[in-house]
Amino acid sequence: MDKLLSVVIPAFNEEAMVEKAAETVAGILRDAGIPYELVFVDDGSRDGTWEAILRANKADKNVRGVSFSRNFGKDRAIFAGLSRARGGCAAVMDCDLQHPPAVLPQMYELWRQGYEIVEGVKRDRGEESGLHKLCAGAFYAVISRLARLDMKRSSDFKLLDRKAVDALLALPEEEVFFRGLAAFVGYRRAQVEFDVAERTAGESKWSFKSLARYAVSSVTAFSAAPMQLVTVFGALFALAAVLTGVLYAVLGRDPGGWLVFLGCLALLGVAVLLAGLGIVGYYIGRIYRQSLGRPRYIISRECGD
Ligand code: UDP
Ligand code: MG
Repeated sequence: MDKLLSVVIPAFNEEAMVEKAAETVAGILRDAGIPYELVFVDDGSRDGTWEAILRANKADKNVRGVSFSRNFGKDRAIFAGLSRARGGCAAVMDCDLQHPPAVLPQMYELWRQGYEIVEGVKRDRGEESGLHKLCAGAFYAVISRLARLDMKRSSDFKLLDRKAVDALLALPEEEVFFRGLAAFVGYRRAQVEFDVAERTAGESKWSFKSLARYAVSSVTAFSAAPMQLVTVFGALFALAAVLTGVLYAVLGRDPGGWLVFLGCLALLGVAVLLAGLGIVGYYIGRIYRQSLGRPRYIISRECGD
């Protein structure tokens, strides 16, 4: 179906939001005269999310759903939804309506004009605190540089042409990072600004730990630069060792102070060595997981036709 808009909605413990999201999004698309389907992906929720999806499907036959056998994470849920999408284009949005569905008709219109990826760009970051804003800003500044992609103000709220969806689905990596990969595939792009709405029910699933893990995994998905950092540190320490050696030979009348200094330097060198091993180990871990060839996710239930 060429004109059909598939809306992919990952949902983890969103029993309070699923039906509201379905009604709101469907209402807006119906009013705008856009043929649609909603594809909910229950990411291994422990609450009544799946039952809510079944109710939404009963109320509106344009609603379909898949359910993971356990929690696999939002990015994998997005890919599962995209693999089920049948539309000529597919939008991805959060279940908590923090991505305002009122923007969808505008995104769809841009797609009709020939843009192949329409990105929702955050105008502000809603209820997040100053510290969070700072961390997010630093994270995107770093990853934009490392991955050579413009990731600032970027979000998962996007509308993709069928071509872009198929290109994403053809990527072989098991650990997927939707935002980064959507930038990686290229295509004719347009942007739509939106204000992040407040979450009205349920709660954010992100802890500081999961955000940090997300940041590390997305940087390493796009860049081997952290490993080159190890080489740079190695060179710096070699230089320091030679310099202290020379200085000691020239000025070494009173070795006490120098010995302490040398000891500290050696210890610091060991610390850098261990950190370097950790970084390299992280990449080897990625290679190892990829080499296992395990599926990105496991689907246990589906509904809708
Ligand atoms: N989500 C998911 N799997 C997860 C965590 C989150 O599918 O493991 C979904 C969640 O249900 C929501 C979207 O991803 O639809 C964004 O999550 P959340 O609102 O917790 O993130 P925040 O808005 O705080 O960044
Ligand atoms: Mg949210």
